[in-house]
Amino acid sequence: MDDCIFCKIIAGDIPSSKIYEDDEVLAFLDISQATKGHTLLIPKEHVRNTLDLSEQKAATLFSRLPKLARAVKTATQADGLNIVNNNEEAAGQTVFHAHIHLLPRYLDGDELDIHFVSHAPDFEALGQLAQRIAKEVEA
Ligand code: 5GP
Ligand code: ZN
Repeated sequence: MDDCIFCKIIAGDIPSSKIYEDDEVLAFLDISQATKGHTLLIPKEHVRNTLDLSEQKAATLFSRLPKLARAVKTATQADGLNIVNNNEEAAGQTVFHAHIHLLPRYLDGDELDIHFVSHAPDFEALGQLAQRIAKEVEA
């Protein structure tokens, strides 16, 4: 897509620090480095986000993750690694070309703050919600 920054990176019109490339995907360092080694994995075909991926395209993209994640973790000597995927503005997506963040984590302190607020379970509500979602999966 013409005005997509990641399509421009794929085309080589904008420079990037490339890590891995094949016919289907590209991996390169995120320009902002939320943690040292922060990497993006993207499909070469322009797709808005994960919600728009076919099963086939998702299988191809996600199949590249484990090897890449191991390589990023080993090369950075990180202690762990978060894999994050933002879909739509409400979820923090700012570049609307599908991408997966690989974020090495360091026990001696890094600046990334990902945390889930937990709530007391309401089992009736959980059951109803699970049913509603299950129906959508089948639809
Ligand atoms: P999002 O917020 O959409 O999940 O993530 C988009 C990511 O793309 C951000 O982490 C941002 O730093 C990164 N980014 C934006 N523009 C560029 C660029 O021109 N080059 C690289 N390497 N990363 C970029
Ligand atoms: Zn694009």
